[in-house]
Amino acid sequence: MSKTYDAIIVGAGHNGLVAAVYLAMAGKKVLMFESTREVGGATTSVKAFPEYEANLSRYAYLVSLFPDKILKDLDLKFTTLSRPMSSYTPYLLNGRPAGLRISRKWDADTEDSFSLMEGGRTEAKTWRWFYGGMETLAKRLSPTLLEPLPTRTELRSHVGMDDIWRMVFDRPIGETLLEKFHSDLVRGIILTDGVIGTHTSAFDLQANRCLLYHLMGNGNGEWKVPKGGMGALIGELKQKAVRLGVEIRTNSRVVNIHTQASHAEVHLDDESTYRTQHILCNAAPQVLAKLMGKEPPTCREGSQLKINLLLDKLPRFKSGFPATLGFSGTLHINETMSELERAFEDTRQGKLPRTLPFEMYCHTLTDPSILSKELQFGGYHTLTMFALHTPASLFRSDNRETCRTLMRQAFTALNEHLEAPIESCIAKSTDGEPCIEIKSPMDLEGAIGLPKGNIFHKDLSFPFMENKIEHRWGVETEDPRIMICGSGAVRGGGVSGIPGHNAAMKLLGK
Ligand SMILES: Cc1cc2nc3c(=O)[nH]c(=O)nc-3n(C[C@H](O)[C@H](O)[C@H](O)COP(=O)(O)OP(=O)(O)OC[C@H]3O[C@@H](n4cnc5c(N)ncnc54)[C@H](O)[C@@H]3O)c2cc1C
Repeated sequence: MSKTYDAIIVGAGHNGLVAAVYLAMAGKKVLMFESTREVGGATTSVKAFPEYEANLSRYAYLVSLFPDKILKDLDLKFTTLSRPMSSYTPYLLNGRPAGLRISRKWDADTEDSFSLMEGGRTEAKTWRWFYGGMETLAKRLSPTLLEPLPTRTELRSHVGMDDIWRMVFDRPIGETLLEKFHSDLVRGIILTDGVIGTHTSAFDLQANRCLLYHLMGNGNGEWKVPKGGMGALIGELKQKAVRLGVEIRTNSRVVNIHTQASHAEVHLDDESTYRTQHILCNAAPQVLAKLMGKEPPTCREGSQLKINLLLDKLPRFKSGFPATLGFSGTLHINETMSELERAFEDTRQGKLPRTLPFEMYCHTLTDPSILSKELQFGGYHTLTMFALHTPASLFRSDNRETCRTLMRQAFTALNEHLEAPIESCIAKSTDGEPCIEIKSPMDLEGAIGLPKGNIFHKDLSFPFMENKIEHRWGVETEDPRIMICGSGAVRGGGVSGIPGHNAAMKLLGK
């Protein structure tokens, strides 16, 4: 325990790394402990199928919330790429395969696609009103995320827009969707952003919080593909941190922390002890509570199933819509509002969902660089499936079997919209095994310590505090030497670096 650090960071996810770089740039001595073999946490890229040079984003896969300001401050050479399509949703039009296409920027094709649906022209108009309002809100709100935490009243007067404020912060989004939209399918497409990774009903304000996080990133809410995969962000951050003198120790699990009047101590699983002025916790608040010997706070279970696939060809849609477009944005399956609500209700009662809502993304259509040239020329693609309303408790009795059952359910539902089954497009290893990797909430808890697989560490919160307490950044704990620098902070959640930035600012006395 010879050396004393200015800050020890527990966990080396992307937020911990962002905090480390800001602190090291300000001349602070920083040490990081990461319990796993690699840094990155939920933002890693891996070669999931050893025989293939496909370096896919294992967990998180799209970026919207990471502010350009942090990229600039830290001089990170990390870029994100726009997808041509926002989404494609197959459905039956008079019994024939069709689909609602929504381009990234509103265009004539999108307008035409809406107008094929019953009442589609009105839905299109309401859609533009809804997202127009959300974009203006995002523009006003997103710069505040890197400033001290405002109160509700301060933020409300800063944002203005009384109608939009009420719609987002006061009234369950389900009510707005029922009142303003008429198509179950259109309502569902919007609602997915309110329930993705979050086990909640549309009529609970938790869905509003989740929706807001999905629509406010960088002032426009656009979700982009990280060039080179999520690992590219981590590679940049790690390199920067190491160059600035941050010490990073992997395979080092913190098991206990405590503070005294003059300093804090961090104890590791190998029984070593380190002394520091401050502790920044990148691990979830539940983990932090255990490290401090306290009762962990309660929060919702994680509620998603991620399936990574390697394809040797893209499947074709029965509707005739080009696969290169349909798979390039978000492909929604079983995600009407009533299907989402029913899946929530089924799983709340501990049953498997009757219809599994899920979405798919083919990132290699936007960024082929995660594949070797050979795979690119061979027509290979990665495909991500992300299922909603699959809470951790469903997996507790038999994790692998539940994963397989839900995957079969997803394949069957997808195949209804394809000319040939998805199974015929999945690449195989030399011993004939299909290239499929499945990650349930239980797997996430085991691998990177997400409590019950909660991808946001804890329930998302609105980006303000109810009452003025003191100068706060939303990273504080009851112990002034300990701060949260991860997803569990107020305004944490998602690949954003925001809690990392805010914890560093707090420590630097900003
Ligand atoms: C499957 C999945 C898909 C997602 N998709 C997206 C997406 O597309 N876009 C998006 O914006 N967000 C997405 N998210 C959410 C996002 O990835 C997370 O909110 C974010 O990465 C959290 O980052 P973090 O740095 O705060 O924490 P984490 O990435 O969770 O890192 C915490 C680190 O702490 C380490 N740790 C834990 N306990 C200890 C201990 N005792 N000692 C030492 N180290 C410890 C962990 O091993 C981990 O490396 C997804 C998450 C998952 C799991």
